[in-house]
Amino acid sequence: MDIILLGPPGAGKGTQAQRLVANRGMVQLSTGDMLRAAVKAGTPVGLKAKTVMDAGELVSDAIVSALIGERLDSTAGQGAIFDGYPRTRAQAEALEMLLGERGRAVDFVIELVVDEDALVDRITGRFTCARCGAPYHERFHPPKTEGSCDVCGAHEFKRRPDDNEQTVRTRMAEYRAKTAPILPIYDDRGIVHRVDGMKTPEEVADAIDASSTARRRK
Ligand SMILES: [Zn+2]
Repeated sequence: MDIILLGPPGAGKGTQAQRLVANRGMVQLSTGDMLRAAVKAGTPVGLKAKTVMDAGELVSDAIVSALIGERLDSTAGQGAIFDGYPRTRAQAEALEMLLGERGRAVDFVIELVVDEDALVDRITGRFTCARCGAPYHERFHPPKTEGSCDVCGAHEFKRRPDDNEQTVRTRMAEYRAKTAPILPIYDDRGIVHRVDGMKTPEEVADAIDASSTARRRK
């Protein structure tokens, strides 16, 4: 089974993808990770990508497609979860071809639907312990004792620099403009399942399980 996880950055795609990997033995295909791995392994596509990145340029769709092709062959029989790809309609069309060439097709698409203002609250309030990495949130999950980590007692915390409102809103706009137009391709086939991404990770995971089970029964 091949699945696409769609949703704006911060919707929790990575968390859900990891869960599917752990519970179902599927393979997560995240382009960022794949790119780094291919460069490190020195594969033909990796070498090409490295040249482009070293020059400070963005890796083209053609390179990303070649990368996915390289990785797809090693996931036969396991099923792939696409996370952060396809990001544009052109990439979605390329993915259709890559899967088609291998006798595969996207089985279903999970769209994590989010409320933009709530997403801003969720992302801008999060921080982690600088020592052990334990995750916190100003409003939803503050440390039990203010200023010290519940897990290790450290007093230093850190935030990701891109966890600010402006960045979240820019990414959200980009998602609407470039990624959301992918959905009609799969809507036409009736394989899009929309899940409320603002629920807890456990609730979202249950909703994904329910969608995929319903899918298999069809
Ligand atoms: Zn800690």
